[in-house]
Amino acid sequence: MTTQRKKIILATIVMVAIFAIYETIKSLVHPSMSVLTSHIISTAVVGIITVFTARYVIRQQTHLMQELEQSNQRLRDALARAERDENLLRSIVSSVAEGLVIVDNESNILMINDAARTFLNLGERPATRLTDLSRDPEVHRIFSNVLKTGERVEARIETRSGEPGLQNRRVLRVHAAPLRLRDRQIDGVVSAFIDISQLQLLERIRQEFISNVSHELRTPLAAITAYVETLIDGGIDDNENNLRFLNTIHRNAERMRALVSDISELSAIESGAVQLKIERIPLRHVVEEVFSGLLPRASKHGVTLDNCVEPEFEVSADSHRLEQILINLVDNAIKFNHPGGKVIVSADLSESDLHHIIKVRDTGPGIPSEHLPRVFERFYRVDKARSREAGGTGLGLAIVKHLTLAHGGEAYVTSEVGIGSEFIVKLPISSSLISHSHEISSSIAARC
Ligand code: ADP
Repeated sequence: MTTQRKKIILATIVMVAIFAIYETIKSLVHPSMSVLTSHIISTAVVGIITVFTARYVIRQQTHLMQELEQSNQRLRDALARAERDENLLRSIVSSVAEGLVIVDNESNILMINDAARTFLNLGERPATRLTDLSRDPEVHRIFSNVLKTGERVEARIETRSGEPGLQNRRVLRVHAAPLRLRDRQIDGVVSAFIDISQLQLLERIRQEFISNVSHELRTPLAAITAYVETLIDGGIDDNENNLRFLNTIHRNAERMRALVSDISELSAIESGAVQLKIERIPLRHVVEEVFSGLLPRASKHGVTLDNCVEPEFEVSADSHRLEQILINLVDNAIKFNHPGGKVIVSADLSESDLHHIIKVRDTGPGIPSEHLPRVFERFYRVDKARSREAGGTGLGLAIVKHLTLAHGGEAYVTSEVGIGSEFIVKLPISSSLISHSHEISSSIAARC
């Protein structure tokens, strides 16, 4: 019983006692009092006692109600706080990129977020037991190890999705730890699944790159070592051959220099360390510059260079980087060409998607279609011997691709074996060039 109630009962008893005492005193002091007077006085006393008792009771009840209301309010606040905390937890758990799964110590799933559903290819399927999650014995071993030992476990698993043969492989790192809700007892397992497929892919690319680089360096280095040894072993006095040996050493050293310079250039572009200064550039003039630098090479191969770019054609690009793109493409078009062949550079406007299109066409042997998707990869060569013979590093087109991407554009190739190849660089048109480009678009005619 609450203190308020006790107080009310006590107050009522006190009032009744006071009235009884009053009645007793009245009968003793005035035994001859008339019935009417006695009733009037008793009624008045009862009335006064009732008013006091009622007032007291009402005050106590009001106090009681207020306390009740306050405790209700506290309860409502606590519930609202608990709901808010739960919503917050839910939204954090569902928005994290890591997959989260919590199971109890009987392998019932208490919680699973969307990322875990995606990683474990669950889709919308209900998942109530650990066996619904995965059939991989490794997953079950991880969870039972944590429950058995109470220790954290880290492991790597693989999942596959899609049709057999067209499967998507996913590599996941799993961290599992015991869930302890009370004292030292293990109540379940909390686990996080982290997708490391991309990291693995990057690691593989890095390793492939390193092995390619060492392979590329090994050949010229071996040639230099062999020829230097020949010179040391008396070849230096062989007047008929010593200059040839030195020329070979020089050619191989030059190949190594070109390779190292292309590698550092490519890594600078890829890492974003290259700052582009985008400006309006008269393309015809840049092509002229590129041609004049490569003219001796073109004459040596018996190839003619045609600049078909309209004099007023402007592109938005970094002039040095654009020149680098064109040097690589024109150099390839000369290298992979027939004597008497042609290299034609032209430009066009793609109004549909607001791009400038620069085309470098040659009349060389062309590229078989199966190689086309791979020629922009680092160190990919269609004809390895011919490319090395011609002093190629195998990185020229990778540099073209990454420089074009850095401009927000794209590079691709079309080719027909026996007819020639056309390398296309698409660069976005900056807003300052749009009206100008529209003006000249009508004047672009086949110059060549
Ligand atoms: P490389 O240093 O070998 O020229 P690139 O990255 O510039 O390296 O080119 C990669 C490969 O693409 C070349 O080895 C060659 O097989 C092929 N290729 C590039 N340009 C042409 C072209 N114009 N005609 C035919 N094949 C080409």
